[in-house]
Amino acid sequence: MTARVASARPSKPRADVLPREFYDRPTEIVARDLLYESGWTQLTERDPQGSYCLTGALSHAAGQDRQSYRNALLSLGPRLGVPGCRFGGFACHCAALRWNDAEGRTRRHVVAKLDEFIELALGKTAASA
Ligand SMILES: [Zn+2]
Repeated sequence: MTARVASARPSKPRADVLPREFYDRPTEIVARDLLYESGWTQLTERDPQGSYCLTGALSHAAGQDRQSYRNALLSLGPRLGVPGCRFGGFACHCAALRWNDAEGRTRRHVVAKLDEFIELALGKTAASA
């Protein structure tokens, strides 16, 4: 699911055409920017307007690196307050999908959840530096 979609803002580089260094940023940070800039959606990975759901954004942010995608699901999953998938636990996208698609969920919640995670990750980095 990495079909390229023509950008309405051609002057702004899209994640799928950015160089490799972009993808070396943590998947959660790239996903957060995608959700912030492209918009957020429910019940579909990506809507026709270019908005992403949480898992769609994480998947797109990880690009070809499927391990990064799984790692992002594994680290975010336990923080979402929903049970893991009974087949794949938090490595499966079910938990993040359920959380994303919950009634009353908003883009603000999703971006805030990623920000919370990123803050924690940055805190850990700073503490160990
Ligand atoms: Zn599952």
